[in-house]
Amino acid sequence: MSAPPTRDLAAFEFSEAGLAVWAQHSAHSRGRLHAEPEHRYRSAFARDRDRVLHSHAFRRLQYKTQVFVRHEGDHYRNRLTHTLEGSQIARTLARALRLNEDLAEATVLAHDLGHTPFGHSGEAVLNVLLEDEGGFDHNRQTLRIVDWFEQRYPNFRGLNLTWETREALLKHGADWPHPVPLPELGAQPSLEAQVADLADEIAYLNHDLDDGLRAGLLDFEQLEACTLFAAARTRCEARYGKGLEPAVLGAQVIIALLDQLVSDLVEATRRALESAAPESAEAVRKRPGRLVHYSSEMNDLRKELKDFLYQNLYHHPEVRSAQQQVECVLSDLYHGFCANPSLLPMQVVTRFEEEGRARAIADYIAGMTDRFARVEHEKLRGR
Ligand code: MG
Repeated sequence: MSAPPTRDLAAFEFSEAGLAVWAQHSAHSRGRLHAEPEHRYRSAFARDRDRVLHSHAFRRLQYKTQVFVRHEGDHYRNRLTHTLEGSQIARTLARALRLNEDLAEATVLAHDLGHTPFGHSGEAVLNVLLEDEGGFDHNRQTLRIVDWFEQRYPNFRGLNLTWETREALLKHGADWPHPVPLPELGAQPSLEAQVADLADEIAYLNHDLDDGLRAGLLDFEQLEACTLFAAARTRCEARYGKGLEPAVLGAQVIIALLDQLVSDLVEATRRALESAAPESAEAVRKRPGRLVHYSSEMNDLRKELKDFLYQNLYHHPEVRSAQQQVECVLSDLYHGFCANPSLLPMQVVTRFEEEGRARAIADYIAGMTDRFARVEHEKLRGR
């Protein structure tokens, strides 16, 4: 005879029993757009995480640029490895703060699904092309993908994620048409969403630094100007001596830096939570400011590191020139498809009426991997 469902339900309730009162418990979820029965032993947020992981859009992340255009080397991060690194930082933070790891992980795994091919420069191109149609934004696109474009269920479109995961993905609110009702946002999102935002940033600050060093676009001498990096290097050399080979030194400095950012964030947030003592996840949403934050000293150092990366890596002439070369790919595709819709798959053309031609084409282009966009561009040029 099979076990009674109550015993199985207790299994995931038990896994959330250690959460703080301010965490988002799955039992308090506002639910999904389309009601579904609970799973026997996976919480609602664990199911969200798994739905994201098994989506088509998730697999496409492996062929999308992070900072370095993919063909430049096999060891640089792409959107998928960025997402995986960020999700594991989010889990560490959530566990240390007794928050819901499943919700934080689901959020980070989904957070970049809406990115265009070729990173932020691709997004900027589409945003200009769609200027008269409300622009283009990858956060908005992420929600369109999970709410509408993924088709895996017979009775509804999208992945039917919980309200809380969708709240975390919506981020900045919305003033655009969306195919299904948007979650109404409070003054703040859940603590898990706040953790997800900063885990994303910690991931990219560190791995972009790592990739920048590997690519030779940044060097140790130049990085002495960055207080956090210089201090992490001093600590590594005090521990291992000054004779480390550059690749090992670089790795050790980044390990130390990552740990410092995560540890400061945990400690400062613990203090903030203890003093604010919100009674529930709902109380967190009504607060005037975010409770997940760094100490003010670390926040200044983090900003310095971020500014350093903008000036010296993201705007580095070599990175910019690689990006500029691919910017024309997206605008050529857009104009080519607008002028000649017969080049588009039928399922895109049938959406012209529903979404308008520009948005339907932008959705199609945004969903492309770098590789697919290049192939389509070659086809277009060969005509
Ligand atoms: Mg990201």
